[in-house]
Amino acid sequence: MVLEIVQGLYEKKLVTYPRTDCHFITENEFAYVKQNLTAYQQSLGISFSVKYPAARKAYVDSSKVQEHYAIIPTKQVPQLERLTEKERDVYREILATTLAMFAPDYEYEETKVIIDVRGLSFYKTGKVEKNRGWKVLFPQEKQQKQKEQPAQLPAMKQGDACMVDVFIKEGKTQPPKPFTEGNLIQVMKHAGKDVEDEEAKHILKQKEGIGTEATRASIIETLKHQQYIEIKKNVVYVTSKGKTLCQAVDGTLLASPEMTAKWETYLAKIGRKEGSQDKFVANIKKFVTYLLEQAPNQVATLNGEINQVSEQSYVGDCPMCQTGKLQDKGKFYGCSGYQEGCTFSLPKTMLTKKLPQTAVQSLLNGKRTNLIKGFKSKKGKKFDAYLTLDLEGKITFEFPKRTARKQ
Ligand SMILES: [Zn+2]
Repeated sequence: MVLEIVQGLYEKKLVTYPRTDCHFITENEFAYVKQNLTAYQQSLGISFSVKYPAARKAYVDSSKVQEHYAIIPTKQVPQLERLTEKERDVYREILATTLAMFAPDYEYEETKVIIDVRGLSFYKTGKVEKNRGWKVLFPQEKQQKQKEQPAQLPAMKQGDACMVDVFIKEGKTQPPKPFTEGNLIQVMKHAGKDVEDEEAKHILKQKEGIGTEATRASIIETLKHQQYIEIKKNVVYVTSKGKTLCQAVDGTLLASPEMTAKWETYLAKIGRKEGSQDKFVANIKKFVTYLLEQAPNQVATLNGEINQVSEQSYVGDCPMCQTGKLQDKGKFYGCSGYQEGCTFSLPKTMLTKKLPQTAVQSLLNGKRTNLIKGFKSKKGKKFDAYLTLDLEGKITFEFPKRTARKQ
């Protein structure tokens, strides 16, 4: 939603390229923003005295800008009333955030009172604003914050006695809420938080966790497609296949977020022409070879779990080779005797209709299915049919008598 609005502003040439997660600009942008400062302030209707006229590293650092710099206003200063309300809100936010780097610091005085209750220390903090500084650029935030006023502390001096109410609050802790798909992206982004190794933590923080802005969503899609996770009512569950995978890679480099971080760091180096592609690929090759050597041992310790998972995905015996079992392969059911040459499979969906479990069972038992309603032919015509398997294991349609006569 917001991205769409920013895209609109970008197409109107009012803000810079929106698909970026960079927080920095270069000297070039800084120069024109500074030049336009008065016009921007007028556009925003908020003036402040410029405290920081020179570029500061926290905002202006070309070494931290790769393809795109942070989203900032262009040189073109719009008449805000010409924009839609939403565009105006988003534009103001971008403009205010950009201008904030010139504004004075926000200053406040914080008082912390430590109260001694029979040898136990309790504290309370109170905050008094001294100078709103850059916060004047965000008047809406002020309105929100005023509702949750910071505590006002009475005048006190060291050694004052006061009355306190002492009570015990009883409650129960809640287990963490299950993740939604949206959470997963955040979790990947902040994957470094729980890593103990300080160096890895630093890398993950710099690289913003696992994956990149562009790849995280598709990593989750892959997990779903491979049936490692499933989403029910927007909540993410790990399947038993997923749990077995976790056990299989537990404690190995494959499960270490540090390693992904190190790869990303090296890829960035290649991007800056400081690293060599050959070296990277060679190392990955070594790593994969090592993993493949280790895999049989690891699998051996997990045989029980793996069999369980495969059994759960068995839907019945194979009617063609008689020895294989039909397994859930994600998009279709396939015979476990595939490597021995049995190519029997059943689709999960036929002509846009999802086959019910009962129909799959009937077909495997060599019976005709019940009447299945709602097939849709390639020409878009809806029809109902029974399904049977022919001698070669191909599905054939049988039509209800009356419909057949009509055709
Ligand atoms: Zn078979």
